Order: sequence, then structure tokens, then C-alpha cells
Amino acid sequence: MLTGPATDAGPARPDRAPRGHARRRDALRALLREAGLDALLVTDLVNVRYLAGFAGSNAALLVHADDDADRGEDRTVLATDGRYTVQAAAQTPDLPVLVERACGPALLAALPDPGVVGFDSAHVTVDGQDALREALAAGELRRAPGLVETLREVKDAGEVDALRQACAVADAALAGMLAAGGLRAGRTEREVARDLEDRMREAGAEGPSFATIVATGAHAAVPHHSPTDAPLADGDLLTMDFGALVDGYHSDMTRTVVVGVPEDWQRDLHALVAEAAAAGRAALAPGVATRDVDAAARDVIAAAGFGEQFVHGLGHGVGLVIHEAPAVSATATATLRAGMTVTVEPGVYLAGRGGVRIEDTLVVTDDGAAPLTQSPRDLQVPFRHDA
Ligand code: ZN
Ligand code: ZN
Repeated sequence: MLTGPATDAGPARPDRAPRGHARRRDALRALLREAGLDALLVTDLVNVRYLAGFAGSNAALLVHADDDADRGEDRTVLATDGRYTVQAAAQTPDLPVLVERACGPALLAALPDPGVVGFDSAHVTVDGQDALREALAAGELRRAPGLVETLREVKDAGEVDALRQACAVADAALAGMLAAGGLRAGRTEREVARDLEDRMREAGAEGPSFATIVATGAHAAVPHHSPTDAPLADGDLLTMDFGALVDGYHSDMTRTVVVGVPEDWQRDLHALVAEAAAAGRAALAPGVATRDVDAAARDVIAAAGFGEQFVHGLGHGVGLVIHEAPAVSATATATLRAGMTVTVEPGVYLAGRGGVRIEDTLVVTDDGAAPLTQSPRDLQVPFRHDA
């Protein structure tokens, strides 16, 4: 069943206002023409959301290369199933909706003159590909991975606003927890993680942007430690890596503090990682290879003799997915452009003793980068021992 564009969806809620989805589809069309495609079948749900604003759990989108939304030509069709007709009318009032359970095959089967149709091959199973071929009676089905992902690397103003909001929510959660004395000895990693997540929800998040990492003492030497019932103890290095999800956009921030009074080795390690993080942030600018950003931070840590203990890449793109292009690592091939949002997160991990990671999310600007996460990076936090 194909329904026309909704006309009675009412005014969009401000936080759900279309963020130039039609403009994004026009940008995609240029890539389709370059790739020699007549149309693209988009089946990845994140890509569907990016191009159409629809956020349901079953959907696909068909975009034609020769349309021009600027001139009012846009034959794009959204497919979803019967559970989502109301949501589709609210979130994508500008597009006709094909109501079918098998969204991708249904869109292809409805094409009168398919030509060369690309598909999101990085997101389709082998069985799924068979179903698409069966549905496309005439025409050619061609792999077309990464086209929408390329567009998603550079955020538009609405996306940067959502990311800034997601980062502000995480900042507020941390500040609130510290003000309430939430990092006292005796509290468990799980309690701290839940405290942060509850506060992010109270501050407006749809939820955490990934499973919150809280690692105390020797656990802080494990970069992706899952919180346990281990209690915080005086003298522990404590790493918290967390973020908020706002309007589908993810924030990502890590802070490492000491519970109580730091020892000299902890101060030194924290200062080293802070210096590396600052060097990484300072290296961000349009035209810079992301591997050079990685090197700017890595060189600081290697020069201090801890190169072997910095066991991961410096950072990653962040947006509708917590880890997305561009990668910021020693083997990455990307070059920064204004509007990219990336993390800078050097870390040093000393098995059995603990570790330090400091992470911020930043947006690349015309002449550098601006931090979106704003929490202080201090090693010592104000504690309230009477709490
Ligand atoms: Zn993180
Ligand atoms: Zn990260």
C-alpha cells in the first residue's frame, strides 16, 4: 500500500523538525550520478533516518539519481510496516509511504523502469541480497557501499546542535554527580554508572549513548571495562567513559579522577595524558590527515616511554552512531573537513595499577576545532565527605 504525503500531521515538534533531509537527498544524488547509478536502495536504518528523518525499526528508502528536490522533483519513497504508519506520517510528512513488511524487496518490485539500482551492500546479508535480486525483475542490482556514510561524515548545523546538546547533557550529569558527592569511597562502579545514566535521562537524554564505563583502581587499566560491584577506594584512579543520546545523536566523553588524594605517579600519568589530549585537539583542522592528529598525541606519550601502553586509536567520528567515520588512528586514511565531529581520547594503561584516559568530542571548524564536551579535566574533584 502506497500512501500519499501526509497533509494533516500538524506542526512538527521543535525537537523533531526536519533537518534538511531533502537537501541531504540532493547531496546523495550527486554521488549516485558519479557512481553511475539510477537509484539507491537504502536499507540501513541509520542511513534511512539521516536521509528521511524516520526512526522506526523497519524501513527502507529508494532515492532516484535524476530528481532534484530543489526544483520540487523528489520521487523518494519510504517503506515501512503497519506498526509505523502513524510515526511515518509524523516524521516524514514530505514522503509517500509504502506499507510492506519486506521493505527493500517491496520498493524494488514497485519500480517500473529500474535501470541500475545500487544497494547498501555493507548492511545487507547474503540472504537479503537474494531477496533483492528476486524482487528486481528487470534492471541491474549493484553493490554501492558507503555512499550515505560519506555524506554523514560532515555534519550540518542541525546535527551539530544535537551533538552539542548531547554533550551538554553528559556534562550536566557529571557536574551534578560530583556536586552531590557521588564519587565517595565505598560506592560501587555499578552505582556510579547508574547515577550518571539516571542524571543524563533527567537532563533530557533518551538514554546513554553506549554502556557507561566506570573503572576503579586496577580496573582502570582495562580500556573498556564493564562496571562491577567493586567499591571505589581512597587512592584509586577512576575512569568514567560515558555519553548521552539526544535526538538520535551520541556524545562521548571520558574523565579520569583520583578518589581522595593523588600520588605522584598518578599526577604524572594524568598530566602526560592531558598533554597528549591537548596536542591532539590542537592538531584538528580542515585539511589535516587524521593519522597526523593521532601522531600529534601519540608522539607525546611515546616520548615519555609509554607508547606501548597507548593501545588504541586516538579517536573516531561520532554522530547518529557512536563510532563512525572518520577514524582518527595511525592507519586511518581520512582527511578532516569543517563540520566533522570527532573524539580525541588518548589513554595510558598500566596493568595491575590503573590507567588514565581523557576524551572529548569536538567539531572541526573553518580554522581548527571547538570542543562540544566542556567538563573540567582536573584529576582531583571536589568531594563532599559528609554525604
Ligand atoms: Zn568514550
Ligand atoms: Zn570514544
